[in-house]
Amino acid sequence: MRSLEQIFCPCCSGQLKVIGSRKRSCIDSLGEKIALCIRRLRCSGCRRIHHELPDLLVPYKRHIGGSIEAVITGSSDLSVAVDESTLIRWRSWFRKMADYLQGCLESIHIRYGKETAEEPSCLPKSKLKRIWHYVGNGSGWLSRIVRPVVNANLWVHTRFAFLS
Ligand SMILES: [Zn+2]
Repeated sequence: MRSLEQIFCPCCSGQLKVIGSRKRSCIDSLGEKIALCIRRLRCSGCRRIHHELPDLLVPYKRHIGGSIEAVITGSSDLSVAVDESTLIRWRSWFRKMADYLQGCLESIHIRYGKETAEEPSCLPKSKLKRIWHYVGNGSGWLSRIVRPVVNANLWVHTRFAFLS
């Protein structure tokens, strides 16, 4: 699993150098384990160590993003081999994260001057459709959320984001 895209430090935007790799496994939509090789990167600016995130992964999740995406979208053409409790957990995870993620996407768009002229009141009511407003609803939308949010150092663990 190699990504050729040039990535920068999410903390200081410094240049990242590959200093090694480590193995990680994840679970595909058939319930099979896949082995991945994740590159370890060191920032030449702040010296922090980062781990490259392959497109198919979502931070803190063992299943591939495609499975989680299919369940959240509710597409019936893709059957995902997970038990009912996992399905429920993913849906509730997305419900909790959706507003936060939408806020992240909004601020990233503003930062890069891509803000649309639309008023927030024009945005669709459904959380999923509001997210799609930014990343489109084509296959891979979850990964199109994850990457910019992770690269902007805004990705949070649900448990830490929503402590009350
Ligand atoms: Zn850095």
